[in-house]
Amino acid sequence: MSLRQNPAPDPAANLAVISDEIAAALKEAGRPQDAVTITAVAKKHGRARILPALKAGHRVYGENRVQEAAGKWPALKDEFPDIELRLIGPLQSNKAADAVRLFDTIETVDRPKIAKALAREMDRQARNPRLLIQVNVGEEPQKAGILPKDADRFVAQCRDEIGLVVEGLMCIPPINEPPALYFALLAKIAEANGLETLSMGMSSDYLVAAQLGATHVRIGTAIFGPRLDGEPES
Ligand SMILES: *Cc1c(COP(=O)(O)O)cnc(C)c1O
Repeated sequence: MSLRQNPAPDPAANLAVISDEIAAALKEAGRPQDAVTITAVAKKHGRARILPALKAGHRVYGENRVQEAAGKWPALKDEFPDIELRLIGPLQSNKAADAVRLFDTIETVDRPKIAKALAREMDRQARNPRLLIQVNVGEEPQKAGILPKDADRFVAQCRDEIGLVVEGLMCIPPINEPPALYFALLAKIAEANGLETLSMGMSSDYLVAAQLGATHVRIGTAIFGPRLDGEPES
């Protein structure tokens, strides 16, 4: 059975296997061996589960809730100062201050109100997390993200009007559909806007994403095992 459905108990061992798999997929696709960074998605997992990955040298982690991250990561960041923490879940503007304080990358900018709140906070705190725009590639009503048809305009608005540096795009394709067309759509929007960073691919489809141009894959279950609660909505 694939590691993706049946991870081993040790997160560090899973990370090593996944890295090898991704390296092979990149080679096959003719992409550089270091083209993809693994964001280890640690939501709903505690310190004890995260520490083995940190001790094995992994430094890039994702969380989908500001509140949960605020309880967990400040202490870990004190111990491992070179951690990169990435926000991969929806952001409310009343959490913008906490998000700017805590996260090194925010992947889920998806509307002018959030972009403006982040710009204000980044100014106030003199902190500059890297920013990605989330695109709702499947145009699903329950999901966060700017619609594909509005993406070019929103990127331009973030850059020209709000004064943000946009580093790239992020997406969560519809579940139960082959993801390749959605990954290709995200890559196309990125290229049209001169954006280099593409956060796409999760436990079930990170190899497809690696082959289609992902620079970051967000992997939770295949590294840390099942979460106690169900999957997030968006
Ligand atoms: C939870 C989550 C992931 C990781 O999902 P897995 O299937 O456990 O790998 C990736 N991206 C986002 C936005 C998530 O919320």
